[in-house]
Amino acid sequence: MSTQPTEKNDFIRTIIRDDLASGKHDSILTRFPPEPNGYLHIGHVKSICLNFGVANEFGGACNLRFDDTNPTAEKQDFVDGIKEDVRWLGFEWAGDVHYASSYFDELYGWAVQLIKQGDAYVDLQSIDEIRANRGSFTEVGVPSPQRDASIEENLARFEDMRQGKFADGEAVLRAKIDMTHPNLNMRDPVIYRVMHAHHHQTGDKWCIYPMYDFAHPLSDAYEGITHSLCTLEFEDHRPFYDWVVQKVGFDVPPRQYEFSRLNIDHTLTSKRKLKRLVDMGVVSGWDDPRMPTVAGMRRRGYTPEGLRDFCERIGITKSEGLVDHRMLEFSVRKSLEETTARGMAVLRPLKVTITNFDDAVAKFNELKNEKTVAEFDGEVLWLTQPKHPQLDMGERQIPFTKTIYIDATDYEIEPPAGYKRLSPNNPEIRLRNSYILKVNEHKTDDAGNVIELIATIDEHTLGNNPEGRKVKGVIHWVSATHGVAALVRLYDHLLLEEDEIDASLAQNVLGDNADADAFWIDRHLNPNSLTVYQAVVEPDLAKAAAGERFQFERESYFIADSVEHTQSLPVFNQIVSLKDSFKPE
Ligand code: ATP
Ligand code: MG
Repeated sequence: MSTQPTEKNDFIRTIIRDDLASGKHDSILTRFPPEPNGYLHIGHVKSICLNFGVANEFGGACNLRFDDTNPTAEKQDFVDGIKEDVRWLGFEWAGDVHYASSYFDELYGWAVQLIKQGDAYVDLQSIDEIRANRGSFTEVGVPSPQRDASIEENLARFEDMRQGKFADGEAVLRAKIDMTHPNLNMRDPVIYRVMHAHHHQTGDKWCIYPMYDFAHPLSDAYEGITHSLCTLEFEDHRPFYDWVVQKVGFDVPPRQYEFSRLNIDHTLTSKRKLKRLVDMGVVSGWDDPRMPTVAGMRRRGYTPEGLRDFCERIGITKSEGLVDHRMLEFSVRKSLEETTARGMAVLRPLKVTITNFDDAVAKFNELKNEKTVAEFDGEVLWLTQPKHPQLDMGERQIPFTKTIYIDATDYEIEPPAGYKRLSPNNPEIRLRNSYILKVNEHKTDDAGNVIELIATIDEHTLGNNPEGRKVKGVIHWVSATHGVAALVRLYDHLLLEEDEIDASLAQNVLGDNADADAFWIDRHLNPNSLTVYQAVVEPDLAKAAAGERFQFERESYFIADSVEHTQSLPVFNQIVSLKDSFKPE
């Protein structure tokens, strides 16, 4: 991987380039086909960036199609959320949104066509019998008692299915292929099932619904999709994909190509499992900033640019692997460096009383460096500073007062080796944008914790270096009287294990057994994924609009929370740390 986004030259783009060059296709049409049974996550972002990305690059188009064949798990809410997420990522689908359910009439017609061709039959075995009779890798399947029923019988039974004469599970329509096929997906797969369920798009019109494996290829073909891009687990389904498209008789069949799914360390990438966390109340919702959902990442402050850059860096291959989460953070951080204003926020406030404040500040006019713009109103020294050191983002007024807060970790009575900040032996430090501070005394509580520092400032050092000595280190601070109390939330991984797969080895985790899931959650979720600080921020930060991003100096990048932030009680979410050990080669 290079520091620059990799040149987009993956095997899928090579295929598309060749297909356009050879004249196989004049233009390309891809699709992103989410099932609306949850919100999109970072894995889907990879698929979105690929499908919409290649369409844009090659002058084609990309459809957004909801693969909504399973009404019990699906909701309009998820449809709306997914649309919002795709747009937020910066992509636009071709024309209207599509739904597999819009094709239920056609799909039904094709099913009837298959029956008439002798390519499908109604099976009256139970789901368990069908499963058992499918055989295994070592055993061939056992044909259904109805496998050789006449076309007329099958048509009548399928009509009965449609008319609601069967209860759920009493009958299915199966493709008639080969019960001895080495690929289990070709052993007469189920293509329609009875399901007496209300559908979010089609209401109560249907009580039979097509299976995904039947609806997906035919929807692709019907829409004229040229390249159907999906993840590797569908590789074994490709023979059926091609079979059904060919049997129905499309002139220009779409072609399915598989790429490896995205897995990131410490990250769950399964809608089902994420839904479980939401349903169990482990997170505050799909948009909890710790969630790897698009909604969560958006609320966390991740940028669409950062996510797209990440997808370019990871590229598209056929090899499975675990991507370093720091790479995602790297891309997000890169997108923030040039776009966010600076501010000072103290997460662990330690009070500092400046005993010579009035005398020292009174003299600021005669002693200040001409670069320092400030005004003293008799109580507060208002420092004027740019919002960003290099970029023109305007200015902010920082109040400097007799009592301030610094971060408690910036003073140590017994500092560890190499500690560069304040201690009894190193009492002087620069306050960012302000004077050199000298700690003369610390006060402790009964437990020995430092609760206040008594200090002085060097009146000659506003914008000037101190004379006769070197003072190393700069710390941030906030006025104790003019700063604003704020909630600042820092995040860590949700998942303790590096690999989701390892954490999921136990059968049925995050399924529908509340006790088993609670047990799993207890063992595998990080109890410290969220830390809330009662912080104090400079007034300019409190004025932030919800969704505005900042760099809190010496801390992290933060975003004013889109749901809870107000100017009277600011709430900030950590986006990413300022620095990281990760360096893409
Ligand atoms: P989940 O298991 O999380 O529900 P899914 O594959 O069932 O995922 P769909 O809504 O069916 O979710 O997926 C829409 C598209 O997104 C599919 O083409 C799928 O291949 C792709 N996709 C899903 N997860 C990933 C992932 N981790 N990496 C890349 N693409 C993914
Ligand atoms: Mg799916």
